[in-house]
Amino acid sequence: MKTVKLKTSQNSYEIFVGAGLLLQTGDLMREAGISGTKAVIVTDTTIDNFHGETVRASLESAGFQVMTVTIPPGEEQKSINTAVMLYEKLTGFYAERSTPLVALGGGVIGDLTGFAAATYMRGVPLVQVPTTLLAQGDSSIGGKTGVNHGNLKNRIGVFYHPKLTVSDVAVLKTLTERELSNGLSEIIKHGVILDAGLFRYLEKNMETIRQCDDTTLEYIVARSAAIKAGVVGQDEYDLGMRNILNCGHTIGHAIESVSGLTVWHGEAVAIGLSTEAKLAHELGILSSKDMGRLRKLLLAAGLPCDIPELDPERLFEAMKHDKKNTDGRIRFALPCSIGASFLTDEINPELIKKVLVM
Ligand code: NAD
Ligand code: ZN
Repeated sequence: MKTVKLKTSQNSYEIFVGAGLLLQTGDLMREAGISGTKAVIVTDTTIDNFHGETVRASLESAGFQVMTVTIPPGEEQKSINTAVMLYEKLTGFYAERSTPLVALGGGVIGDLTGFAAATYMRGVPLVQVPTTLLAQGDSSIGGKTGVNHGNLKNRIGVFYHPKLTVSDVAVLKTLTERELSNGLSEIIKHGVILDAGLFRYLEKNMETIRQCDDTTLEYIVARSAAIKAGVVGQDEYDLGMRNILNCGHTIGHAIESVSGLTVWHGEAVAIGLSTEAKLAHELGILSSKDMGRLRKLLLAAGLPCDIPELDPERLFEAMKHDKKNTDGRIRFALPCSIGASFLTDEINPELIKKVLVM
């Protein structure tokens, strides 16, 4: 097992990464100081079928009286209506301020449950038990919680950190191949922007990773979590340095939204990474060798690199409305080599349009 520590303004807590950790969830919660008698697991029906019972049994053997709330899978569930349903379930269970909410799932469950935990009774303990690679390596870390409002992603939310995070890499074996690849994108991004060593490790071990080997998964999840924790520790509220995590996302978000979410987040980020690398290359900042290494790694991870049949004008319009922009200038986090990157909002719009059709 590997442990990553994260210090925030709200608390300091640990992220545990290892194979078979679901069985220890209850004990790890007790060790982290969660003392209540009740606990609520929030999950979706798919995850519940695979892993719900293991977590429930672990919590019960640690002395918790458990209620499980299951919702259907899907992004549509990340809504204020589902949060209200959760509040009602919590009231019916006589949940107290000490009653932890255990988010057992991917980013949808993590964001929704985190939001409910932050707001119910002005905050009850949160435990993140991420079950997708995207959630383990990225979304469960950093305290961003929230729900969508109509078509507006993550429009309502709050920064709220868990008391602990339990990332059991063995649960990734029940993901589909597409889901696993989807999660690899953000991990590759962490390597590109900040850690050449992680990038090399991914280059060397991609085949083993895609076979869901526990040891390699443990390494990349823990490393990815540590990189994100390091950035979040320096800019918890996303006011500066944290923007570097947006590498691949300026173009990626546009692709996600113009495609009507048929291109998944991780896939859109992969296309974004590869296209933003072209932009950095056009600017003379990134070598063609490094641009090639990135493309090769993304393809080896089973991810797309080329922009699908989408209107470049609409993509450019979507980028102009990205919430990271200031004064209408499109902001990018661009790689300058493998393991190093910088922020800029001074790219010539014509050059952006050029790489969108390259
Ligand atoms: P997801 O939560 O929708 O999960 C994907 C699918 O995988 C679901 O159908 C789920 O039922 C299934 N699943 C989950 N774990 C499984 C397992 N172990 N075995 C089998 N099936 C399993 O998708 P996601 O990619 O994890 O998360 C996407 C969400 O994360 C988006 O809402 C996005 O906005 C959010 N996000 C949040 C942050 C953040 O910082 N908070 C960062 C990135 C993304
Ligand atoms: Zn992302």
